[in-house]
Amino acid sequence: MLSESESADRSAVVLLSGGLDSVTAAAIARADGYRLFALTVDYGQRHRFEIEAARRVAAFLHVQRHVIAAVDLRQFGGSALTDRMDVPLHRSEAEMGAGIPITYVPARNTVFLSLALGYAEVVGAAHIFIGVNAVDYSGYPDCRPAFIEAFEKLANVATKAGVERTMKFRIHAPLLEMTKAEIIRRGTELRVDYAMTHSCYSPNEAGVACGRCDACYLRLKGFAEAGLSDPIEYQM
Ligand SMILES: [Zn+2]
Repeated sequence: MLSESESADRSAVVLLSGGLDSVTAAAIARADGYRLFALTVDYGQRHRFEIEAARRVAAFLHVQRHVIAAVDLRQFGGSALTDRMDVPLHRSEAEMGAGIPITYVPARNTVFLSLALGYAEVVGAAHIFIGVNAVDYSGYPDCRPAFIEAFEKLANVATKAGVERTMKFRIHAPLLEMTKAEIIRRGTELRVDYAMTHSCYSPNEAGVACGRCDACYLRLKGFAEAGLSDPIEYQM
C-alpha cells in the first residue's frame, strides 16, 4: 500500500482540451509514472469537436477518471472562440506574432488551473499538468513561464492541503519551451495517435479542420518541421 503522501506524489490532474498539446503533456505525465485524473472544461467553445476529442484522448490514456466540467465563458463573451466574432484566417506568422489575437479567451488558463486545483485537492493529487507552450503560442499571456510560476505559488497558499503542508502542489508545463515540431516528435515517441486530436478554431459541420486558422497553421507547420504527416483530414 502506498502512503497518502506517496499516492499524492504519484497522482496528477491533467488538463485535456482535445488538442495536440494537451494530449502530449498528458502522455509525458503518464510516461513519468503518474496516475492520471483528467479534466476537460466545457467552456462554451463554439463547436463540440474539442470535447469529443478530449473523450477519445482520455480513453486512450486510460485515465482513472475523466471529469468534464461545464463553465460557460460565453456569458462573458470577449473572444472569437466564445462569441459571435469571426476567427481570423490566412494570417502570416508576422501577423500572429504581433499582439494578442481575438482567439484569446479572457483568463482562460487561470479558470482552468483553478478548477484543476480544486479537483487535485479532492483526489489527493499534488501534480497538475497543463499543455501550454511559449514558443508557438499565438501570443497568449497565460501561456508564459511567469504565469505558471505565479499559479504554483497561489496553489500552495490557496488550499487547505497547501497551508497544512499535507501536499506541495506543483504545476507542470512540460511543453513550455518546446516548438510545435518538438512536441509532435515527443508525442510520436510516446505513441500518441494525433488522429484523435482536434485543433482547428473553425471546423465545418462535420468537424473537418479548416486548414486556414492560426491553430491549423501552427499544427501543419509543426508536422512539416517534424518531418511527419498530420493524420487528420483538412478541408483543403
Ligand atoms: Zn482551422
